[in-house]
Amino acid sequence: MCIFCKIVKGEIPNQTILEDENFLAFNDINPTRKIHVLIIPKEHYDSFDVIPPNIMSGMTEFIQKVALKLDVKESGYRLITNIGKDGGQEVHHLHFHLIGGEPVGRLVR
Ligand code: C5P
Repeated sequence: MCIFCKIVKGEIPNQTILEDENFLAFNDINPTRKIHVLIIPKEHYDSFDVIPPNIMSGMTEFIQKVALKLDVKESGYRLITNIGKDGGQEVHHLHFHLIGGEPVGRLVR
């Protein structure tokens, strides 16, 4: 079973920010910014590339609630999802990184 499925099942502890029936948001174990939260569907999808649009719609709403809870609506934040090898995806269970709490900088090469 994948590591995020184990987190969903409670087999690996996590610092939960927000949870509902279908989605979970928790602190990244290796934060890159003051705020670094991962948002996942409880059901396993390998990446954004395969998530059905109707489930993504629920996830969008959930992510907006997470931003509200983290109080970053006004200050702003960055949302990232890595997909596959070239995207740098290490955990193959769809997750969005929500980073912020400070200016996160430009995307530069
Ligand atoms: O997008 P990518 O797959 O590279 O990111 C995986 C993320 O999952 C990393 O930021 C890593 O710190 C995080 N992680 C975690 N808890 C785990 C395993 C990985 O927060 N048990």
